[in-house]
Amino acid sequence: MKNDIINKADKVIAATYKRFPIVITRGRGCTLWDIEGREYTDFVAGIAVCSLGHAHPRISKAISTQADILLHVSNLYYTVPQTKLASWLVENSFADRVFFCNSGAEANEAAIKLARRYFNEKGEKDRHKIIAMEKSFHGRTMATLSATGQDKIKQGYEPILSGFDFVPFNDIEALQNKIDPLTCAVLIEPIQGEGGVRCPDRDYLRSIRQICDDTGTLLICDEIQTGIGRTGKLFAYEHFGFEPDIMTLAKALANGLPIGAMLAREHVVAAFGPGSHASTFGGTPLVTSASLEVLKILTEEKVLDNCKKMGTYFKERLLWLKKKHSSVQNVRGIGLILGMELKFEGDPIVKKCMEKGFLINCIQGNILRFVPPLIIGKDEIDRLVRCLDEFL
Ligand SMILES: *Cc1c(COP(=O)(O)O)cnc(C)c1O
Repeated sequence: MKNDIINKADKVIAATYKRFPIVITRGRGCTLWDIEGREYTDFVAGIAVCSLGHAHPRISKAISTQADILLHVSNLYYTVPQTKLASWLVENSFADRVFFCNSGAEANEAAIKLARRYFNEKGEKDRHKIIAMEKSFHGRTMATLSATGQDKIKQGYEPILSGFDFVPFNDIEALQNKIDPLTCAVLIEPIQGEGGVRCPDRDYLRSIRQICDDTGTLLICDEIQTGIGRTGKLFAYEHFGFEPDIMTLAKALANGLPIGAMLAREHVVAAFGPGSHASTFGGTPLVTSASLEVLKILTEEKVLDNCKKMGTYFKERLLWLKKKHSSVQNVRGIGLILGMELKFEGDPIVKKCMEKGFLINCIQGNILRFVPPLIIGKDEIDRLVRCLDEFL
């Protein structure tokens, strides 16, 4: 059964992913089961997507209830769930308005378009360049791969979009030197996700904010991975004492239903008038009611408190592993986005953990990334750490 599925999939699905040889059929909370009934504790959560775990009864109910009422109309009309979700996001962030789409890449695509159009409307038509960071990740569409600071993601797709400059993350001087009168925006992940769970130095993001203010440049935060509680606060920017002009969200926003959102300040988003941008599926009643329920649960079930507590505990345990094993180079992260850099390739550890019933993720070849559901408990963390301890 398992091999039938894998053999079939390998014939009919575009081979853009190198997949692990398990077929996952079911989930509940932080646990997944494969087609052979084997159990896994999930420290991947669909890559920081299923923050409230799998098959959360309240989310399942919100989805099935809405499915019986209305799935989709068009953004030619108003709907109640979309309005409520936008209101919630606006009330709980720096932003004044929201544009809905269906993925992270699309949210960044909207942010890039808005930044360019904002200066166009202001009469600064040449001001189109965006400074992004080396090792960043912003998506796989033509514009967002062009904005991504990793060559391997661009390979074979030339010519890529022009107008993107790159500077090293955490190097404020490099940014200061790169910014010029044609720069319209700085695009940054507050904590780099795919690039290796890289955290900003204490004043780095505030200094960027200052440079942007001094030069009238827009600051775009890609919070697709860090947003919606992943770091223990609703948005990662709240840790660092600044606010962006534009922010993008996706991954955890609807706990697994596809959704993307671009949030912005009023004077910026004013450049998006009727007809300037659009999305057929953006913000359907189905996904926005699921997302509203996600945000309600996040608040009512004190999920951020658990994220902070478990994040601190988990990091302590990983630092303990670092002290014990010279093969661990570095441990970093905030809340429940944690990375452990190894002095060797991480893939064998990922495979061994899988055999022992844990799903973890390896990025950049040698960095283990842990992004479990935010409802993870101490017991699950202890069991994984024991397993890592053994393999290291
Ligand atoms: C995942 C991710 C994206 C891309 O999101 P998709 O939904 O896969 O298009 C963009 N930026 C960051 C920081 C991400 O983590």
